[in-house]
Amino acid sequence: MIYKVDLPELTLNRLTDVVYLQMRLLRYAASTSSINEEDCARYLKAYKIFKGRHEQIARWLFNKPKPRELLRQFSQGSTAEKLEWSRCLFREAIVFLTNQFGYITPYKKDSASDWQIAGSEFLSQFYKYLGDGLPDYLFSEKGAVLFSKNDLKLNFYNTNNFLLVCPACDLPPTGIEVDHYLPISIYPHLSCHPFNLVPICSECNSFAVKGNTDLLQKDDHIRRKLEDVFLIYQGYGLGELSYLKIDLKKGHRAIRLIELKPVKGNNIIEHIESYSNLFKIPDRWFKTGRTGETIQYQMFRKIETSVQAAKQYKASLNIFDVYIELNQLLQILCDDRGKEPFAFTMSCWLATLINQEIKPAISSSQQIDIKKFPLLEEIASWVKQDSIQHPAYLDDSRLNKAWNLRKIVAEED
Ligand SMILES: [Zn+2]
Repeated sequence: MIYKVDLPELTLNRLTDVVYLQMRLLRYAASTSSINEEDCARYLKAYKIFKGRHEQIARWLFNKPKPRELLRQFSQGSTAEKLEWSRCLFREAIVFLTNQFGYITPYKKDSASDWQIAGSEFLSQFYKYLGDGLPDYLFSEKGAVLFSKNDLKLNFYNTNNFLLVCPACDLPPTGIEVDHYLPISIYPHLSCHPFNLVPICSECNSFAVKGNTDLLQKDDHIRRKLEDVFLIYQGYGLGELSYLKIDLKKGHRAIRLIELKPVKGNNIIEHIESYSNLFKIPDRWFKTGRTGETIQYQMFRKIETSVQAAKQYKASLNIFDVYIELNQLLQILCDDRGKEPFAFTMSCWLATLINQEIKPAISSSQQIDIKKFPLLEEIASWVKQDSIQHPAYLDDSRLNKAWNLRKIVAEED
């Protein structure tokens, strides 16, 4: 995610239980070709985690025609193949719960056997039931209550309560939906996996943006490992390890967007590339005129407000006043990342403006020709000054003799 987000403990506990249950039920049906409620309950009873709840769980499953039928169809596959496949999914689901390294096997419906299609759909069904809520007896913790997709969203925003934007794209969080970071259609064994579910905005989750894009598929031939991509609940966000490189076009308000680049010392080009492609950022921020204009409007409005506030306390602003004001504003924008939409973009843009427009003016050895610095020219107009000058060149009649002498000495050099 562009911002670091934490996985709520309750979500972790509940969904870890669901993953174990899904995998165990699949293993049960891999071990037999005639499933029934009593056998299923007996199978579950052998595992400490399910003991005591085994009958309720089996009843829950066998009372539901669709998953029961899917599991029956799965059980009709060859025992050796079923066992191998379910063992592989089980192992990958656990790896994704623990150290998050290595490859995850994609499920390809086109080349799958009937029993595999049924098994995949069986796993995906659990996500459907999560929508309404999974009953308390599916969970290992004593005193657990029904857990639903809505609880997942609420827990997420309670735990990450600083977050007032979509964690994936930095846009205002409209129409929050639960996303399968690794698509359920390709990774059915991660359909309810705690590390694969995250609430993001409806635009990010839409078919036009993310769709069923597989983060782990680099191109037609190359697969990525889990460690090659940004995962949701790791200890950092993309925004901390990268920055937005922007080229200023003439006139400073128009920009050319280069790309997200790693902050020096981070070897994460692959992570950035895969994430950028997945959520179509940063292109999405600027390609749609609406967003680009919003970012530009908000940022220049902030600059205007801050320099006008500074002017209230001074007769005239010099270049250092402007420099300090803009750095203070930059600090605020950095602190507001995750709280204010587009703070990531605005902060990178403002840092570029300070470096490319203000610093050269400060280090200029001559009077600042404001026409050559469009940002300064605009700031001067906001604060109703003819110019923004270096204090050394400010017109001060008391210093006329000193200025003159310096000019003479400079010419002599
Ligand atoms: Zn979003």
